[in-house]
Amino acid sequence: MSQQTSSPRPRVSARVGAIAESATLAVDARAKALKAAGRPVIGFGAGEPDFPTPQPIVDAAIAAAADPRNHRYTPAAGLPELREAIAAKTLRDSGYEVRPADVLVTNGGKQAVFQAFATIVDPGDEVLLPAPYWTTYPEAIRLAGGVPVEVFADTDAGYLVTVEQLEAARTERTKALLFCSPSNPTGAVYSPEQTEEIGRWALEHGIWVITDEIYEHLTYDHSVFTPIVRVVPELAETAIVLNGVAKTYAMTGWRVGWLIGPSDVVKAATNLQSHLTSNVANVSQRAAIAALTGDLSAVEAMRSAFDRRRRTMVSMLEQIDGVRIPAPQGAFYAYPSVKGVLGRTIRGVTPATSAELAALILDQVEVAVVPGEAFGPSGYLRLSYALGDDDLVEGVGRIVSLLGEAG
Ligand code: PMP
Repeated sequence: MSQQTSSPRPRVSARVGAIAESATLAVDARAKALKAAGRPVIGFGAGEPDFPTPQPIVDAAIAAAADPRNHRYTPAAGLPELREAIAAKTLRDSGYEVRPADVLVTNGGKQAVFQAFATIVDPGDEVLLPAPYWTTYPEAIRLAGGVPVEVFADTDAGYLVTVEQLEAARTERTKALLFCSPSNPTGAVYSPEQTEEIGRWALEHGIWVITDEIYEHLTYDHSVFTPIVRVVPELAETAIVLNGVAKTYAMTGWRVGWLIGPSDVVKAATNLQSHLTSNVANVSQRAAIAALTGDLSAVEAMRSAFDRRRRTMVSMLEQIDGVRIPAPQGAFYAYPSVKGVLGRTIRGVTPATSAELAALILDQVEVAVVPGEAFGPSGYLRLSYALGDDDLVEGVGRIVSLLGEAG
């Protein structure tokens, strides 16, 4: 075929071309850019604590940077001391034993998410994905050749899916269930009974459970985090636990996460990582050792600040006509339904979707929130309460007064 007649081939591969930009990072970047340009923007988009990393952890990293042992490649699966610290921390916080050999240290929880799906999903396999879901999961599932199957739970269910819903979505191709509690984006937390029921159902049907436990230490009121492998120990052979230091120790920038799973899966995921990224930066790994072998006093101080901000945010959002919000029980996000605001006119604009409403809020009152479209169906907004109290009250106050104008 001559060059003139052939249709141009896409420059970007179909697989990567299909990936959407991370909406949460995009909102955060837009808010930061406006702020840098001098606008009084208040950003509720960030998925990160606003506290600095505790000083003893920083000191360990400074010492590590000066030590030539850390200037070279180290094992792809992680420093042996860190894998041991992760096993010890799992026993301390989750109450069951894992072998350090069954731990793989990754560049943040995000890489653990990708590698978990890449390691167990074959093309055409279905992965049950409770929605609203964290924006990265469907991309990671699709990149592995899998098919995300959304199982939606709305405000009236407190954003918690039931075994009946999961069973209705199960097919011959169902390979895995993604389980995230406490949840990003909804802040929902499954009770011990619900967690066990879901774990037993997965075990009975031979469905893998990929359990994202990165918000384990951030729960409020009477809610508690329940490690699914502790309440259903037989799942150890068909579960992959994802976790990291980012949220617990205010270490999002250090990029240390991990996955724990059965030996064959961890070995395969390590082989993959040995070609992708090799070892995680040694200085960050040493910092993570300091974090995991220290106490949990810093996270308790952050947790109580988040709790105070959570109450403030929920009580302000609740006042808005047309907004419904189940009180978030974990993580640091509020996830109001704004369906009762859509279709009404605000300053001459009539938003039909939560994406349009989020754009209106940014344009009119310079407050950045992430629309529900990033996490599943339209009709919701995600607001992080990991920001200072004064900014929080000012920013939510602007939203309350803007939406109060809805005709
Ligand atoms: N899981 C969930 C549910 C998250 O919210 C995040 C961060 N937004 C991660 C995993 C990954 O965190 P990191 O890569 O920073 O460790």
